[in-house]
Amino acid sequence: MPIYYPGVETYEVKEANGDFLGILYLDYYPRESKSGGAWCTSFRESGHDINGKKIYPVVSLVMNFTPASGDTPALLTWDETETMWHEFGHSLHAFFSDGLYSRTCGNVPHDYVEMPSQIMENWVAEPEVIRMYAKHYKTGEVMPDSLIAKIENSALFNQGFMTTELIAASILDMKYHEITSIDEIKALDVDAFEKQQMDAIGLMPEILPRYRSTNFAHIFNGGYSAGYYAYTWAEVLDKDAFNYFKSSGDLFNPELAASFRKNCLQECGNDEGMVQYRKFRGQDPDYEPYLRARGLK
Ligand SMILES: [Zn+2]
Repeated sequence: MPIYYPGVETYEVKEANGDFLGILYLDYYPRESKSGGAWCTSFRESGHDINGKKIYPVVSLVMNFTPASGDTPALLTWDETETMWHEFGHSLHAFFSDGLYSRTCGNVPHDYVEMPSQIMENWVAEPEVIRMYAKHYKTGEVMPDSLIAKIENSALFNQGFMTTELIAASILDMKYHEITSIDEIKALDVDAFEKQQMDAIGLMPEILPRYRSTNFAHIFNGGYSAGYYAYTWAEVLDKDAFNYFKSSGDLFNPELAASFRKNCLQECGNDEGMVQYRKFRGQDPDYEPYLRARGLK
């Protein structure tokens, strides 16, 4: 396959039975001209041409992982590992999406789009799964249980603070987008407005919204206008969905996995996100697993 930069890897992605699904590019390391962060993008999206012929997706995962240096190969931090699984979840969504029209082929509402990615962050941290992939780069030894316990114990660190700043920012976003009068916008004192709104929800002075108004790029020109809550909403869905797998007694329950793939990834654009979610879950999402995951229950 042609690559656009040395070191970029390409893979043919196939079904278990060998059927072709698409091409995956993996672009792991930073370089001078590359933006920071990590994202999943498609050079060509899954779909069908006007005669109904299948168009196979060409998907790219772009990262900025710590590269190899000297004798040390590229080793992922825990944060980078979570990022890899998160972006891989976006790529599964891109590969499995199927439908005749743009709207029914992966184009899902904005408050649904982080669910297929965030759900992968649940598996990455399960001890049973960690033992499958976290092997010492020299000895091949599986990560010891004491270290796995440390990862588990640290999962709840600072969650009260992080949840509060996230929710505060989500509410601030909504408050800006509830303004309907142009005169009110022209006369807006941003600092005073922010303080007034945060006082109204009782936000304590020790915690600020995740982004102050003048630095809140997501909601003014970043595609998350009146939508910053989507991260939290997607987390309610992903924690509930993962809990469904977990309480079935099998993290890799093939029946649930097939239903998740069909209803939540492949046909996710067929109907409202919640309708598709219910087809998988059989009920409304429960927010308790979200609270438990954040140590708030
Ligand atoms: Zn994402």
